[in-house]
Amino acid sequence: MSKSLQAIRGMNDILPEQTPLWRYFEGTVARLLDNYGYKQIRMPIVEFTELFKRSIGEVTDIVEKEMYTFEDRNGDSLTLRPEGTAACVRAVLEHGLTGGGQPQKLWYIGPMFRHERPQKGRYRQFHQIGLEVFNLDGPDIDAELIVLTWRLWGMLGIRDAVKLELNSLGTSESRGRYREALVEFLSGHLDKLDEDSQRRLKTNPLRVLDTKNAETQAVLVDAPKMADYLDDESRIHFEGLKARLDAAGIPYVINPKLVRGLDYYSKTVFEWVTDKLGAQGTVCAGGRYDGLVEQMGGKPTTGVGFAMGIERLILLLETLEQVPEEISRQVDVYFCVFGEAAELAALALSEKLRDQLPNLRLQVNAGAGSFKSQFKKADKSGALYALILGDDELAQQVVSFKPLRGQGEQQSIAFDALAAHLATCIVQG
Ligand code: ATP
Ligand code: MG
Repeated sequence: MSKSLQAIRGMNDILPEQTPLWRYFEGTVARLLDNYGYKQIRMPIVEFTELFKRSIGEVTDIVEKEMYTFEDRNGDSLTLRPEGTAACVRAVLEHGLTGGGQPQKLWYIGPMFRHERPQKGRYRQFHQIGLEVFNLDGPDIDAELIVLTWRLWGMLGIRDAVKLELNSLGTSESRGRYREALVEFLSGHLDKLDEDSQRRLKTNPLRVLDTKNAETQAVLVDAPKMADYLDDESRIHFEGLKARLDAAGIPYVINPKLVRGLDYYSKTVFEWVTDKLGAQGTVCAGGRYDGLVEQMGGKPTTGVGFAMGIERLILLLETLEQVPEEISRQVDVYFCVFGEAAELAALALSEKLRDQLPNLRLQVNAGAGSFKSQFKKADKSGALYALILGDDELAQQVVSFKPLRGQGEQQSIAFDALAAHLATCIVQG
């Protein structure tokens, strides 16, 4: 195929054989979030570039080098959203959803865009499900966010493969004091810091903590610890969260180096990580961002949220072979028809069946074909049963009902009795 007709590097088609797993995953999450009282919000995929600069922060990886930014025909600078929080906060403010201190528990799903180096688990268009909670400032809601993801891992059968890492960045005051101490310490070891860290020391010093460079890591061993700089408010909040996770029986490890890439976090930050996917091990990440709404021009409004990467979780389900078998079977009954008269009767009959059994997954053969070829298609469809209608059956106003997966004998069933019969053999979802 000529180059111009290929998809963009790092942007994937999700093919028909993969969509059942995506729909299973998305459906499971949507049901869970309904049950916990979260409401879905849908934001545009494109926003003014300024939104992301102001919320994510000018000196983050995303804003510095990962955004898909372009000028539209009016000369406005627009950006394909790299994440969902900024747009969600923008929408909440624009529509007054948190006016008067009203709490909101929201979720969204959709594609995000970052110009990163594509590799397994890292793409340029990828998909997230995100949650954002506003105007609830206690550790109880931080705990709920973690508890519900823990339940989700259980529903998906991947609990044993993920680990919760937790840290507190403190309030902006305590983080400010810590930042000063860290900068002072690191400035004394400038020659041992990698280039990236030297740069970050000036722009975003906390990010030095998650350097991958061994020499810099060695320096950090003696660096001041965030935990020693937490003020009472932050400490009580963090203890409150830990007590709730303990009560819920959710294991976690404290990772003092967990700082997260984005500027806007405060107090709680967390990541769910797995060692089953290689380098791209974080499947879900988030934290509290109490200052963000105000920073974006709103009244002081606390916030906490997270986003999970759907591609990575799908990869994990596949790696752990936690793909339920039944999700790929999309047909219950395959209707084989022979001859024009039978085809007309089959059309009327199948529409009547769909009226009577609204959840029936019935595929009517299209394109005619021999007995052999229609049966091959019936088998390939994954259907449990075939219906057969030819001139002989039509004359007697019956169809032949044939189990395809070895559950009983073939039998003739009168047109009128067919719906009742199917209802007894097909579990309606
Ligand atoms: P990473 O450290 O892997 O780059 P991040 O900190 O940039 O992740 P967030 O912005 O917190 O990621 O996004 C939340 C989740 O979205 C991540 O934990 C991950 O599962 C997923 N994610 C982020 N970037 C990508 C990407 N380029 N491709 C696929 N999934 C991604
Ligand atoms: Mg990233």
